[in-house]
Amino acid sequence: MKIETKCLHEGYTPKNGEPRVVPIVQSTTYCFDSTEHIAQLFDMPTEFMYSRFANPTVDAVERKIAALEGGVGAMCTSSGQAASLLSILNVCSAGDSFVSTGAIYGGTVNLFAVSMKKFGIECIFVDQEASEEEISKAFKENTKAMFCETLANPALTVCDIEKLAGIAHKNQVPLIIDNTFATPILCRPFEWGADVVIHSTTKYMDGHAVQGGGVIVDSGKFDWTNGKFPDFVEPDASYHGVSYTKAFGPMAYIIKARMQLMRDFGCYPAANSAFLLNLGLETLPVRMKQYCENAKKIAEYIQKSDKVISVTYPGLETDKYYERAKKYLPDGCSGVITFSIKGGRENAVKFMDHLELASNVVHVADIRTCVLHPASATHRQLTDEQLVAAGIDSGMIRFSVGLENVDDIIADIDKGFAVVQ
Ligand SMILES: *Cc1c(COP(=O)(O)O)cnc(C)c1O
Repeated sequence: MKIETKCLHEGYTPKNGEPRVVPIVQSTTYCFDSTEHIAQLFDMPTEFMYSRFANPTVDAVERKIAALEGGVGAMCTSSGQAASLLSILNVCSAGDSFVSTGAIYGGTVNLFAVSMKKFGIECIFVDQEASEEEISKAFKENTKAMFCETLANPALTVCDIEKLAGIAHKNQVPLIIDNTFATPILCRPFEWGADVVIHSTTKYMDGHAVQGGGVIVDSGKFDWTNGKFPDFVEPDASYHGVSYTKAFGPMAYIIKARMQLMRDFGCYPAANSAFLLNLGLETLPVRMKQYCENAKKIAEYIQKSDKVISVTYPGLETDKYYERAKKYLPDGCSGVITFSIKGGRENAVKFMDHLELASNVVHVADIRTCVLHPASATHRQLTDEQLVAAGIDSGMIRFSVGLENVDDIIADIDKGFAVVQ
């Protein structure tokens, strides 16, 4: 099946007489005939038993997303932040470290640099454009993963996935990629060597701003028996001595994430949320195509304005990442553009406050056009140094192009430009 077809048909196949649309199983629990049956599930949860870590509606969506990314399995989470957190906790314990590129989502920077540190896990940030030798210096004996974003929010850097996968693998650790902005419609990182993909499904996948969520997808390709990951190989005392690699082979990572982390932390989405996410996924290919088309036109329009110092959109020929985007994002660069208004912070705020169609919201990748001033919102907690590393200046506006008619969006931008001197 091609990806458009997978978006509609993967994950749930009704049998004779069953509902056409994946049903919402709004039940925390499931009935069994015997105590013995339940006892067996506590040894090995092969059926649905409790909705803190598995549910049939969520399961259908997990299967669909795994198929879209080309992975062996997926696990949904209640937010993108939870997906980032668990993707790392599944490989790192106190005393370990991991390497991340600096140009990533502000919330992830906080999580990695501040909260993870409190868990005893060190994140070492690197410049993804540095040489292989330079980046390799960040890896230590206790380093267990490398992390980056396909298309960074909001820096819009395009990650050289093949290069980073090469570096990670030379150091015997998995490459984890946040593929939120690209979505599997525009880029499938596993095809370029990534080992684990995560998403904030709150963004394009949901698309309609109706529910938050995240997902972790496992490529099934990483060798967890290479000596660096004893937790995958040695018996898990909290699950009757199961060895994840022996019992689950290529699905070791994603099953361990569910059996240990989701069981213990319980940041699982509700069935109702998964149902809504599924609706978003069904139209994802059509929407992504239109976002890309609208955004390219708007980026070109903004670029011509004398009210703007710089525009960042990897789909523009003048963009630093244009050539790399042609390789990794051949069908388009999604709907997010950033630009810097002349006059810095003050004019950026003025511009935004005079838009009428575009909503000023803490959100991105919505079906409706929306704007945000990263320096005073999502990236507010970052130091000036971290802001530079994340590719943000104080006059920068993140413009998330929606699916309105492009002429209406341009007319709105003109209203903002009109008040900027
Ligand atoms: C929004 C976002 C997150 C966090 O996701 P939430 O669903 O808001 O928790 C992580 N990564 C990227 C790239 C994002 O845009």
